[in-house]
Amino acid sequence: MLLTVQSGEEKNQARRYSFHRSEHLSISQVKLVSYNQVNGIFKKVNVKMSTRLKKFMLLCSATVIFFTPIVSCAVSVKAKPSEQPMKIDKSKKEWKEILPKDVFHVTRESGTERAFTGKYDKFFEQGTYICSNCKNQLFDSKTKYDSGSGWPSFYDYANQYSIETKLDKGNLFLPDRTEVVCWRCGAHLGHVFDDGPQPTGLRYCINSLALSFEPAQ
Ligand SMILES: [Zn+2]
Repeated sequence: MLLTVQSGEEKNQARRYSFHRSEHLSISQVKLVSYNQVNGIFKKVNVKMSTRLKKFMLLCSATVIFFTPIVSCAVSVKAKPSEQPMKIDKSKKEWKEILPKDVFHVTRESGTERAFTGKYDKFFEQGTYICSNCKNQLFDSKTKYDSGSGWPSFYDYANQYSIETKLDKGNLFLPDRTEVVCWRCGAHLGHVFDDGPQPTGLRYCINSLALSFEPAQ
């Protein structure tokens, strides 16, 4: 509160007015009144927040801004591979020469294996699922679960270099879906849906033919 008073009477007026105001203003109103003496007249200035309160609010905002990314990172962090894998860019013709026919159809022609026929559908060994085309790490067995869909299902992928997602435009018979491809070689793996279990709520529905398996050591 700024109080600048020159004469004795003005000083007393200021005290009385100040006391009167402090009696009737609650703290929750956060409304202080300061007075400047200009030409013998008290000019009332409403100050919505004191400097101290502004500093406190600023400190709270800074704390939230600073800690929010840290908390987010702590929740979403995934196991990182030792180094970023090299991207592989082969033509369809080159892939056709090196892949088995059924694997080529699923991974390079966006095919889908028949439900309940894939070798990893009911497979629950401990280890890592890698891309059948390029051996990139895709999924950890810890995130695999039995969705009952007939395809291997995971609620999360292995690391930041595992997968990418793309819009799979629908048609008259199919709605738009989200396609899952290998981050390294672009192989079609399957689709991701939002009806999975926690903590992600996602279901990565993957063709067994797009996967190979490396048992845990
Ligand atoms: Zn791959």
